[in-house]
Amino acid sequence: MTKKEIETLVIHNSNEQKEFIQSLTPPLYQTSTFYFDNAQQGEHRFAGNEAGFIYSRLSNPTVELFEEKMAVLEGGEKGLAFSSGMGAVSAVLFSLVNQKDHIICSRGVYGCTFGFLQLLDEKFGISHSFCDLNNQSAFEKAIKGNTKVIYMESPINPTMELIDLEMVTSIAKRNKIPVVVDNTFSSPYLQKPLDHGCNIVVHSATKYICGHGDVIGGVVVGTEEYIKQLSKTMRKDIGAVMSPFDSWLLLRGIKTLAVRMDRHCENAEYIAHSLVEHARIEKVYYPTLPDFEQASLARKQMKKGGGLISFTIKGANKAKTQQFMNQLKLIKIAVSLGDPETLIQHPASMTHSVVSEKERLKMGITDTMVRLSVGLENREDILEDIYQALNQQV
Ligand SMILES: *Cc1c(COP(=O)(O)O)cnc(C)c1O
Repeated sequence: MTKKEIETLVIHNSNEQKEFIQSLTPPLYQTSTFYFDNAQQGEHRFAGNEAGFIYSRLSNPTVELFEEKMAVLEGGEKGLAFSSGMGAVSAVLFSLVNQKDHIICSRGVYGCTFGFLQLLDEKFGISHSFCDLNNQSAFEKAIKGNTKVIYMESPINPTMELIDLEMVTSIAKRNKIPVVVDNTFSSPYLQKPLDHGCNIVVHSATKYICGHGDVIGGVVVGTEEYIKQLSKTMRKDIGAVMSPFDSWLLLRGIKTLAVRMDRHCENAEYIAHSLVEHARIEKVYYPTLPDFEQASLARKQMKKGGGLISFTIKGANKAKTQQFMNQLKLIKIAVSLGDPETLIQHPASMTHSVVSEKERLKMGITDTMVRLSVGLENREDILEDIYQALNQQV
């Protein structure tokens, strides 16, 4: 196939699977193990002298199809699937550091990533520094002799702060430090970190990749050499493998990634612009709003603004913010994101409750902030639900 655009790549296989008796949808190999024709074949497969499957913790054909698909979409050489986003994040971080090494992170990271960084520090003396990566001199100062990873999210949850991927990778390259990007919030449809020079991409496939709220999964994309190593050590021996059925569901979900993302973004953009005008709304955080400080960076490295919006309610406090959430009728109160349903959560008491109040406030996460994962419903219906809940408040 000649090079195709992402709207085509999400639907068609990179190498049409002739061996699957021309089945239009990928087959599900729901098996734990694979038998050998004879003992010698088993010996050769274990020795790596013959290609073929052995056992589904090592590899599985359906899981491999999902991995290949993600590698194509992210523009990387190879992918590796995990049982959850955290399975992927922890495997990548673990793979790049040794005792007493140092990790540099974006100012905000996913709550459980934060927890894993603390565990690395407590158990193995692997320290980390949170850094404003857009501040070039602060970033350069944070780099130490034992810094082995730059780890970041962009946009950062829930404030939507963006990081200039090209600026960070240029500094990291000079210092020969690999850059890992958690691309969960954007999906490869909106942002492709490898195109900006980053080395490794991780995803919680649970979110936009799945798109239907029915799978927990994770994936890593990187060079063939790196992925081979990650598979042999971190996945095979720690064992956070993705099931064939989950891979099959993800392959199904991915086919509609482009159309879903377009709708998520259109809805979110419309709702963000509308909320700015509402008297009860204090501040709206959305990357492509004209007065968002990093709107030009958003346009530079993202195709669209994404499906997530955070906002704060004027004159509210924690109780009033919770009351607003309870008054919503259509919008469900839930963490996670990227589902067809619009979801709302309260970062201070939910996703960021593990972060100390002082750190939270430094990140700009107040008690009156909520985060909306805008779904695929009619945008006026979503907005009307928010308005009726706001208007009930005294
Ligand atoms: C959800 C999420 C994760 C963790 O993924 P799981 O699939 O829940 O393990 C990691 N990073 C980000 C940005 C997420 O939103």
